[in-house]
Amino acid sequence: MPPSIKMPIKFECPSCQTVYMHKYSPDAILTSYPTCPDCQQPGQLQGTIEMQDLFKHPVVLANYYWKDTLQRFQHS
Ligand SMILES: [Zn+2]
Repeated sequence: MPPSIKMPIKFECPSCQTVYMHKYSPDAILTSYPTCPDCQQPGQLQGTIEMQDLFKHPVVLANYYWKDTLQRFQHS
């Protein structure tokens, strides 16, 4: 995988039992830890997504890339 493609990182919320994605950025994790979209509690870092996540969480990933595309569109 070329380094120009940034894989999102995966978090799991222990209280909601949900998985959510966040754009990979070392600064973002250090300064503003991405919280659970449902309960706003800090989730557990699971690392970057893997191929198996594409099959496990297709809807989560689709939402992530949809939001990412929207943000890019708004910022341009
Ligand atoms: Zn939660």
